[in-house]
Amino acid sequence: MNAEIQEKLRELALKKSIPFCHGCYKEAPTGRCQTCGSDDLMRMLPGVGCEWGTDWIIRSIIETELTPVNVDEAFEESVRQCYPETVQVAWMTLDTVSVAKEMDPVSWNIAKSEWESQEADEGNIISFDNGGTYYWTSDVEAL
Ligand SMILES: [Zn+2]
Repeated sequence: MNAEIQEKLRELALKKSIPFCHGCYKEAPTGRCQTCGSDDLMRMLPGVGCEWGTDWIIRSIIETELTPVNVDEAFEESVRQCYPETVQVAWMTLDTVSVAKEMDPVSWNIAKSEWESQEADEGNIISFDNGGTYYWTSDVEAL
């Protein structure tokens, strides 16, 4: 994944969470526990919980604030932009997308996954779980 985005998300995670002393089980907003003096602190995300590291905070922020890419819809939209809206079959004027989908669903699905990997390669969509779910990079940047 894009290192710059990763770093920005880490900063955001730090900003949205509070250092938390696990031993004393209390917040340590200064970065050092006032009670035991430890600076080996967990992060606490209000309303969510506390845990070590920032990856879980990033995941939580993304899941609560962003809508995953609807790949079916987005791919369909890109096909509509690349091809004429309708096709002529004998005397019938038919919707290009519906015809393609219904006539050859296998080919449609292959093209859809190719579209998905291409968008990911170009950095337009981004995944935090190895391609299970994608988000629009522009949405992530807007965070
Ligand atoms: Zn402490």
